[in-house]
Amino acid sequence: MDAHGSGPIRIGVSACLLGQEVRFDGGHKRNDFLTGTLGDFVEFVAVCPEVDIGLGIPRESLRLVRDDNGALRMVANKSGADLTETMNAYAERRAAALEREDLSGYVLKKDSPSCGMERVRIYGRAGMPVRDGRGLFAEALIRRLANLPVEEEGRLNDPNLRENFIERVFAYHRMRALFATRWTAGALVAFHTAHKLTLMAHSARAYAELGRLVADSKRNRACRAARALLGGVHDGAEETGDASAPRQRDAAYRRLSARPLR
Ligand code: SF4
Repeated sequence: MDAHGSGPIRIGVSACLLGQEVRFDGGHKRNDFLTGTLGDFVEFVAVCPEVDIGLGIPRESLRLVRDDNGALRMVANKSGADLTETMNAYAERRAAALEREDLSGYVLKKDSPSCGMERVRIYGRAGMPVRDGRGLFAEALIRRLANLPVEEEGRLNDPNLRENFIERVFAYHRMRALFATRWTAGALVAFHTAHKLTLMAHSARAYAELGRLVADSKRNRACRAARALLGGVHDGAEETGDASAPRQRDAAYRRLSARPLR
């Protein structure tokens, strides 16, 4: 990626959504929007957590279970094998590696105990499962890459949610390109100006609030306001060695772009 964001847009994706036959039953869940439309504009980074931890194809299906102590476990349906620690350890390692993969978005497979983003079934000792879980890999990914635009493939069938996700991906890509450079207050002002209509479409009040912070950064050589705006800055992160700063610095724009268009 160069300073203008003209490098490839890289999006992480659950491998089965690209047509890879990695599911427990040896099948796939190819998503036509991803492979037939979005794929023309982005570069995918495919990940299958269950294959990566050494489970075969085909394999036993897995489920999330709430144990007697209230802890969430990943359990094989037939054998009852507990894969929680294995998957959690893998998920932490893989999410850390993905942080270096230059991603601008991620599309997860819905309902999966590994990849599902929301409303994944959690089973108890008895009764009906409740649909309020998140897959173990998805949990680690979203925690680690907190500002990354993430969606489920099912939600991308909704035109509004799809448009919102694509908008966030492109904006995030451009913003990362800006902060990959030795950016200046002027460059920040130019970025903010270029995104005026996008920001105003989400919230005029927030656009004005961000504008004041950006203007303040121009007056302040040390860009202290930019630090406040972005939760950490390029040079500040390097000076302090604060590893969390790169994840935090985009927060204001991300929160704005995540809001649905009115
Ligand atoms: S949902 Fe995730 S773990 Fe399951 S097959 Fe697809 S990529 Fe693999």
